[in-house]
Amino acid sequence: TLTLEDTLKWLHGFDATVTAQKAYLSELDTPIGDGDHGNNLARGAAAIEDALGKQEPADLTAALKTIAMALVSKVGGASGALYGTAFLEMAKASRETQEVADLLAAGLAGLQKRGGATTGEKTMIDVWAPVVAAAKAGNLTTQVIDDAVQATKPMKATKGRASYVGDNSIGHLDPGSVSSGYLFSEMLKAGV
Ligand code: ADP
Ligand code: MG
Ligand code: MG
Repeated sequence: TLTLEDTLKWLHGFDATVTAQKAYLSELDTPIGDGDHGNNLARGAAAIEDALGKQEPADLTAALKTIAMALVSKVGGASGALYGTAFLEMAKASRETQEVADLLAAGLAGLQKRGGATTGEKTMIDVWAPVVAAAKAGNLTTQVIDDAVQATKPMKATKGRASYVGDNSIGHLDPGSVSSGYLFSEMLKAGV
């Protein structure tokens, strides 16, 4: 089960990682996008730290909502709305359950509803979907996460900005999948 304490630890880890990997994430977004993914998320990470630092959230639901709002309002770009929606749906679901697999599944459902993508379209869904499946089966490991991230490389993008370059998207990692990989690796590191 996901606790408030785990969530704060998890997001602090994610914020530190995306900030450290800002240049790399934007570099990944350059050949198949507009080169801003790292900058977008680093801005979101700073906003999350700011919001969580201002006032300790009262409970898990409040923490997830605070994170969602920081992402929606400060990230911009497709990823801000998508990550923001995922955390907002997790916040809503957390009123009913604290099971990690169920919360992540609610986040994935929100992502799919918001972005209209399914697996195989070279988006962050290609990491979220296998992670949710593994979490439900109780066998989520860093290997599962890394394999899902690497699997986006040969895919052709059919959603988002990368779809504009068509076949030229083949052979590049999807930046949002790499950042989602960081999100879930940090979740495991936080002991969730
Ligand atoms: P933008 O494309 O607006 O510049 P970012 O560069 O921050 O936004 O984020 C790009 C990432 O967003 C992509 O690498 C992909 O993983 C994700 N993405 C884009 N469109 C979708 C979508 N429709 N569904 C899910 N994820 C998407
Ligand atoms: Mg971009
Ligand atoms: Mg952009």
